[in-house]
Amino acid sequence: MEIKRGIPVSPGVVVREAFVLDSESFRIPQRFVSPDQVDSEIDRYRKAKGLAAQDISALMEERGGHIEEIVHIFSGHLAILDDPRLNGEIEDSIRERNFTAEYAVSQSFRRTINLFRSMSDDYFSQRFTDFGDIERRLLSRLLDERREELANLTRQVVIIARDLTPSQTAELDAKKVVGFATDAGGKTSHTAILARTMGIPAVVGLETISAEVSGGDLVVIDGTEGRIIIDPDPVTLERYRCREEAFRRERFELNVLRNLPIETRDGHPVVLLANMEMPRDLKTAVANGAQGIGLYRTEFLYIGDRVPNEEDHFHAYKKALEVLEGRPLVIRTFDFGADKMFGEAEPSGELNPFLGCRSIRLCFEKVDVFKTQIRSILRVSHLGKVSIMFPMISSLEELQRAKKILYEVMEDLVSDGIAFNPEIPIGIMIEVPSAALTADMMASEVDFFSIGTNDLIQYSLAVDRVNERVASLYQPAHPAILRLIKRVIDVGEVRGVKVCMCGEMSGDEVFTLLLVGLGLKEFSISPISIPKVKLIIRRSSMVEARELARGAMNIADPNEAIAYLARETERISGVQTAV
Ligand code: PEP
Ligand code: MG
Repeated sequence: MEIKRGIPVSPGVVVREAFVLDSESFRIPQRFVSPDQVDSEIDRYRKAKGLAAQDISALMEERGGHIEEIVHIFSGHLAILDDPRLNGEIEDSIRERNFTAEYAVSQSFRRTINLFRSMSDDYFSQRFTDFGDIERRLLSRLLDERREELANLTRQVVIIARDLTPSQTAELDAKKVVGFATDAGGKTSHTAILARTMGIPAVVGLETISAEVSGGDLVVIDGTEGRIIIDPDPVTLERYRCREEAFRRERFELNVLRNLPIETRDGHPVVLLANMEMPRDLKTAVANGAQGIGLYRTEFLYIGDRVPNEEDHFHAYKKALEVLEGRPLVIRTFDFGADKMFGEAEPSGELNPFLGCRSIRLCFEKVDVFKTQIRSILRVSHLGKVSIMFPMISSLEELQRAKKILYEVMEDLVSDGIAFNPEIPIGIMIEVPSAALTADMMASEVDFFSIGTNDLIQYSLAVDRVNERVASLYQPAHPAILRLIKRVIDVGEVRGVKVCMCGEMSGDEVFTLLLVGLGLKEFSISPISIPKVKLIIRRSSMVEARELARGAMNIADPNEAIAYLARETERISGVQTAV
C-alpha cells in the first residue's frame, strides 16, 4: 500500500481499478503485465509494429516514393522496424521480464539511441534521430490503442495520467471514468474545473503518480482530502469503500433540497447559477437546482478540427435556452489562450501565454471569428433571457472596443432584417486586477460584473493557476483578494450594477458565508456544488454572515483566514467544509 498527497480538485471518494494513460511526448515509466497477459502484450506490440510500418510506407509515398533520397530514408526506417535483433530484444523483455509493450519499446530504443549518440563517427551519431522517430511512431500506435480502449470501456475505472488536456477530460465518459489523478495541474486548471462539473472525484499535482501506478492496480482517489492510495490494505480498503458509500448517500440527501427557495434564514434571497463547460452540463445544472447559467464557457465549440460557423454557435445557444426553459443564460465570448487550447488550436509559442494574446485580445486580432460569435449570440438574444459577457477586460478602452464591435454587428443585423434584442444585457468578467481597481470607471458602460477569481487570484498574487509547484501560494483568502472582491461588490451596490462571481472560489463552500456577508447576491458555480452551498445559505442569517465577513477581512494570514471561515461556517450552519 502506498499513500500519495496531491491537490484536491473535485470532492468525493472512489475505489476502482486504474487505467493508465501515457503520452508519447514523456518518458514511459516502468510498468508490468501479469504473466497471463504476456502473449496478448506481444500481439499488441506486433500489431503496433505493422501499423507503424504502414504509416511509414504511406508517408514515403506522400513525400515522393520516386525520389531516391526519400526512398533511402524511409526504407531505412522500415529496415530498423524489422531489425531481428531489436525485435528479439523487445519481445524478450515482454516475455521474460513482463514489461508492458510501451516500456519494452522505449527501453530498447533508449539504449540504442544512447549507443549511437556516444559514437564519434558523424554518420552513426546522427542515426539516433531516426531511431527517436521510429520509437515515437511505435509508441503513438500503442497509445492510440489505449485511447481507443478508453473510449470503449465496459467497466468503471479511474484514470491515471501525467496530464489530461481539457478536450481529453471533456471526452471522458462519466459513467465509466469515475475518478482521475494526474501528475500535473492546479486547483483552477481547466481540467480540474471540468472534473468538478462532471462530478467525479479528482486529485492533481501528484508529480509522479503516472509512473507509480500500473494499469489494473486498485486505487483509492479521495478528491476531498487530496489523497491517493495505491493498492490499499484490507482495512484501508474497507474504510474507503464505506466513505464512497457515505459520499453517495450525502449527494442523494442534498438533492432533497432541490425545490426549496435559496435564501438566508432571515429571508435574504441569493441567486445560484451554474457554470457550464459543455452542453451536456446543462441537464446536470438544472437537475441540481441551478436558477440559470451564469457562465457559459463557449470554447468547447472548437473541439475537433473545425472552426465553428454561425450556425454551430446559433444551434448550441438555442439548444441551451430550450433546456433552460426560461432561465437566464450568460454567454461568454471566446476565452482562448493560455491553458484553454482546444482541438487543433496550437500553443502560441509566447513566453508568457497567460500574459499574452489570449482571450479578448485574441478576439480583437481575429475580428471575423469574434463577429461570427457575437452575431449568433444576438440572433438568440430575443429567444430567451440571454446576456453577453466579455472576458479578460483590463481597461475601459478594451471594454469600449468590444462594445463597438458588438454595435457594428447589431447594425449588420438591422440591415439584414434579422431580429435580436437591442437591449441585451452586457457584462464583463472582472478577472484582471486593473479591472477590479477601475470597476467604478466601467460601471456606467455595463449591466453586470462577474468576478473571475480564477484569473484574478493568479494575476494579483503572481501565481500561475496551473503550476503545481506554486499551488500552495494560490490563496483565495489572501487579504489582497478579499479587498479586491469587496471593492467590486461595493461599486456594484453604489452604482446599481449587478455583481456575480463565477470563479471557482464562489463554489467553494468555505467561502459561501464570507461572500454572502460581503454582499454578493449572485453566485455562478459548478452544478454539483449547488446543493451544499444552498444548504449553508439556508441555515445561516445575513446578520451572521456579515459578522463573519467583518472578522475575515482583518486576518492577514490566508491559512488562518480559511481555518476561521471553516470554523465559523460549521458553528453557524452546522455544515463541515473541506479545508
Ligand atoms: C475565472 O478566471 O475566474 C473564470 C471564471 O474564467 P476561466 O476559469 O474560464 O478563466
Ligand atoms: Mg478567467
